Amino acid sequence: MSESIVKYMTKKQLKGIKFSKMKLKLPNDVESIGLYVHIPFCKIPCPYCPYNRYPWQPNKAEPYINAVKKEINLYKEMLGGITVNSLYFGGGTPTLMPEGLAEIVEHVKESFTVKGDICTEANPDDLSENTLDLLLGSGIKKLSIGVQSFDDDILRAIGRMSHGGKTAIDAIKAALAKDFDCVNIDLMFSLPTQTLSDLRNDLEISIKMEVPQITTYPLMLFPYTKMYRDVKRGRIKIPGDKMEKAMYGMIVDLLINAGYEPCSVWSFTKQGVEKYGSVEREEYIGIGAGAASRICQFTYWNTFLVDDYIKAVDKGLPIAIGSELSKKGSMAQWFMMRLYETKVNKYGFSKQFGVELDEALKWPLRMFRLFGIIKSDKNSVQVTERGMYPVHLMTKTFLSTYISRISEECMKNPWPTSFEI
Ligand code: SF4
Repeated sequence: MSESIVKYMTKKQLKGIKFSKMKLKLPNDVESIGLYVHIPFCKIPCPYCPYNRYPWQPNKAEPYINAVKKEINLYKEMLGGITVNSLYFGGGTPTLMPEGLAEIVEHVKESFTVKGDICTEANPDDLSENTLDLLLGSGIKKLSIGVQSFDDDILRAIGRMSHGGKTAIDAIKAALAKDFDCVNIDLMFSLPTQTLSDLRNDLEISIKMEVPQITTYPLMLFPYTKMYRDVKRGRIKIPGDKMEKAMYGMIVDLLINAGYEPCSVWSFTKQGVEKYGSVEREEYIGIGAGAASRICQFTYWNTFLVDDYIKAVDKGLPIAIGSELSKKGSMAQWFMMRLYETKVNKYGFSKQFGVELDEALKWPLRMFRLFGIIKSDKNSVQVTERGMYPVHLMTKTFLSTYISRISEECMKNPWPTSFEI
């Protein structure tokens, strides 16, 4: 019951959000903001992948990096020397071009004051000693390795052809031997052919290696992917909802018993370790093809096509589409993001929106409390153990409703005029 309510409420909150052509609106008093840089290339694109990525073409690296630097310059002209409170490279596969990342970090440091974490996503087969040293040397201190599984058969079943289990283990060991502040690994569950014991094996390998942070996320089917079509046509079978729930329960139990603490419903960090965070930043500017920015109540998406992006930055910001949320919508999305992190700071909410959380979101809070999803005290709202699975479903619904719709439209048309969730 609580599960269908959460899915229903998430969909209802997102339904009707409108996207249209929009110019960037910046508040006058920006002092610090996060920076997300998208590197949209992968050696072998995976058939389940929902992100904006294209097969790697080394000859595109230089023009792409130059375009990224031009876009950074445009923001520098508008914002002056503000503080960048986090710099995050996502993809695609950023580690395909480690020298390029170093060049971009350097450029960001020359343009702004960088005070927060510098993090990158990485593919196991890119992580040679040399690349790890290059990343560290450029100031990247947090690393997230896309392992997905250590089982070669499962990696093949999901079409993840760029690495095998042994490569992943070697990459993790090499990264752990270096001086990173945090190494996260991504594991996937609810995969074709995967059993509970396969998943247990992946988790046990990770625990044994003492990986500081483990992020586990389910396979999600996005309508514009090959995996979606294969599943719909019956060519590939994936575990059902019941099995996914059992897998998620096992992840939570196993990792908590092994001394990990949830820092989101999908990420678990060893006690005392600085966490690696990807999606939690409240406000950020997205740089690169298909990158999203979130500023106040606005979200903006850059054009998805690499060639269009490279051309567009010569004329101005490459923003293709944007949306403005109502105050209620902004509050609800903020609350969902914090629930994903398993803890909501009430003071943070009132500071952001000028109203008390208990007052502004009275009904959803009452409903969530009634179903045992959250508990709260004077200062915060926390997701209960029982609430972890419903919040996992909420996050899945958010991604498969909101992100899926935007990506589908922007992949079809690099300069869409308008659409609605
Ligand atoms: S490596 Fe990652 S970003 Fe690239 S296609 Fe596969 S899942 Fe997508």
